[in-house]
Amino acid sequence: MTTVDIVHVLPGLLGTYGDAGNAAVLAYRARQRGHDVRVVNVRPGEAVPALADAYLIGGGEDIAQIRAVELLRDDHGFTAAVASGAPVLAVCAGMQIMGEWFHDRDGKRIAGLGILDLRTTRRESRAVGDVIARITGLPNAMADLLGFVNHQGATELGEGVRPLAHVHRGIGNGAGPAIEGVVDANVIGTYLHGPVLALNPALADHLLTCTLGPLEPLPDVHIGAFRHVRTHRAPLKY
Ligand code: GLN
Repeated sequence: MTTVDIVHVLPGLLGTYGDAGNAAVLAYRARQRGHDVRVVNVRPGEAVPALADAYLIGGGEDIAQIRAVELLRDDHGFTAAVASGAPVLAVCAGMQIMGEWFHDRDGKRIAGLGILDLRTTRRESRAVGDVIARITGLPNAMADLLGFVNHQGATELGEGVRPLAHVHRGIGNGAGPAIEGVVDANVIGTYLHGPVLALNPALADHLLTCTLGPLEPLPDVHIGAFRHVRTHRAPLKY
């Protein structure tokens, strides 16, 4: 049995649309495999621990997002953790701030953390609605990625990274081709809320596997049924 340390980066600033639930899902799925779990919520002014097993950073409003990037630029724990190969899930604003830069609502360029080779301008219309996408950026075959988006960003990926998924329905990164999210080594970025790990348990297990190695499957009966309804029956909005 291992103790799994999960760091939730600035959840008070970044964590719209239930993104905090991603920490609960990771913790639950590690505990179900018999591990102890500690979840550390990093608050403004606190250092990000560098040696944890997984990092989560959520979505946020434009102003909160700028405050978060200011705080994280002065904190080397997060960049050190990424450099050491720790798994990271960055959602929406969290993904944008890990890039080279993003535009604020006046079109001013704000420097990101420079961890991911991506840049974010702003769309004319907000991207809002459900998404179904085929995961293409991870080594193991997985069920389609489900979730919903609500963002203004148009994120373009550079040569150094690959998309997480290709969009069947809805809007993903919001810039040109129907691409959703980003993958660079053990860092995964996505625009999807849901919380995305609750709707996509295989993605949660992928993150845990980076730290724990191969995992016994869990009986995901309820989420499987929910995913089926959501994919085939629910009146999704795109
Ligand atoms: N503020 C960013 C945007 O609108 C991110 C939004 C979000 O995280 N949901 O693009």
